[in-house]
Amino acid sequence: MSGSNEIVNLLNLNREAMESWFTELGVKPFHARQVLKWIHRHQVTDFDAMTDLGKALRSRLKGLATVRVPEIVLDQRSEDGTHKWLLELVCGNRIETVYIPDGDRGTLCVSSQVGCALDCSFCSTAQQGFNRNLSVAEIIGQVWVAHRELQQDEPLTNVVLMGMGEPLTNFDKVVAAMDIMCDDLAYGLSKYRVTLSTAGIVPALKRLREVSDVSLAVSLHAPTDQLRNELVPLNRKYPIGELMAACKAYAAGDRRRKITFEYVMLDGVNDSDDCARQLIKVLNGIPAKVNLIPFNPFNGARYKRSPQSRIDRFREILMKAGLIAITRRTRGDDIDAACGQLVGRVRDKSRRQLRQEVSLGGIGGRR
Ligand code: SAH
Repeated sequence: MSGSNEIVNLLNLNREAMESWFTELGVKPFHARQVLKWIHRHQVTDFDAMTDLGKALRSRLKGLATVRVPEIVLDQRSEDGTHKWLLELVCGNRIETVYIPDGDRGTLCVSSQVGCALDCSFCSTAQQGFNRNLSVAEIIGQVWVAHRELQQDEPLTNVVLMGMGEPLTNFDKVVAAMDIMCDDLAYGLSKYRVTLSTAGIVPALKRLREVSDVSLAVSLHAPTDQLRNELVPLNRKYPIGELMAACKAYAAGDRRRKITFEYVMLDGVNDSDDCARQLIKVLNGIPAKVNLIPFNPFNGARYKRSPQSRIDRFREILMKAGLIAITRRTRGDDIDAACGQLVGRVRDKSRRQLRQEVSLGGIGGRR
């Protein structure tokens, strides 16, 4: 890295990468840890303000590196305290990050890609198409910005990778950014408070288990392959049986670990008593909790939200079978900050089919 003349954005580096970059420069890794702390704990981007580094090192860093954070172009606050930032990245793309306060808990919903290639039929990000993966700096930059912008009485206790994009198709960048979220020198969040949400890229789930132990949420949304193929086209490549086996393996060996299964409630589509009973069977033997998400409508959507009474009944059937099931409260819908409503701005999107083939290794061909 230090061999090239390119200025390095230190926001891209987790502890390990920062230490090796410093080592390559012939600088003690101890200083890498100091810098990591300055950037993420103290929100300092100016090397001159990193007062416990020697002057010579500071001026050397100035010549080689920078700390470049995403720029806020719009800052919206909902009546319920939900906060949404629209961030501009280099090359003009825009992504959205949402903060959701809830008592003494505060959850930041972070994006991992500009747009999304998966084409889930009920998600408005899908309509945007896919542009590109975010860098580590752009992913952790969302946490950095929120950390700077939030007030004293707005704690940041949890991060969920549930914004735009499919995090497991941007694997290395997402894992490195999650390292920084959990690092004591940075945001120090527990692995139980950082949650990656995936539509179910099975081989990547296996890899994730080997390199990380963050919490997992799986966007299930349907109890049969036939229905799930329609809602989450990725299911044609990784059907429910394979996905459940991977979930079981992910949870193995940690008794505290529960996997969250997200289930969007679509009126007359996946919300019948029968679907609830089939879902119970699918989740049998998996340490699961179910998160029922009332569908959030958007322009051009072909679905409607299930009535509250239907959602309650569905939940009751699950709970009678001993499953933990909660209904996610819809937050921030006055500022379009609810699940599936994040759109940002996707520039130069290529045809989705093409991108999908690239990012998923050929799923497009099987549809
Ligand atoms: N690609 C990842 C993360 C992004 S989606 C995944 O699929 O999990 C985050 C969550 O919001 C998913 O559970 C997704 O299915 C849900 N979601 C998407 N569109 C929605 C909508 N219109 N209403 C409610 N939930 C939605």
